[in-house]
Order: sequence, then C-alpha cells, then structure tokens
Amino acid sequence: MNTTTPAGNREHPVPLLHTRVERCDRCGVSALVVVTLPAGGELHFCGHHARVHATRLLEIGAALRSTL
Ligand SMILES: [Zn+2]
Repeated sequence: MNTTTPAGNREHPVPLLHTRVERCDRCGVSALVVVTLPAGGELHFCGHHARVHATRLLEIGAALRSTL
C-alpha cells in the first residue's frame, strides 16, 4: 500500500461549496465512497474498489462514508 500518492498533489481550486464530481482513484468512474485516512487526506473509490479495499482501510483506521 502506498503511503505517498502520486496524485496527492491535486489542488481543489474550486470552493467545496461547488458540487464536486469525485472519481475513483483506481479506475476513474464516479466515486461512491470517500475514505478519510487516519494520517489525513482522502481517497475516493467506486463501489467495486471500495469493497476491494474496505477491509484493509478499516484495519488502518480509515473512515469510509458514502458520497451520496
Ligand atoms: Zn474503481
């Protein structure tokens, strides 16, 4: 598991008030799950990849929530 994400430098120039369309960090489809990492930072996953990674993410103390 990466601790440094190559895409981690993405800036969000638009205020969070805007409707964001987040994409799965693995496959690029619309994200259904936002993962908040215990060390800070967020990941976004589609339903498929959320299931694939959920066990591992929960083990490290990440919080998963729906984007809906
Ligand atoms: Zn995906």
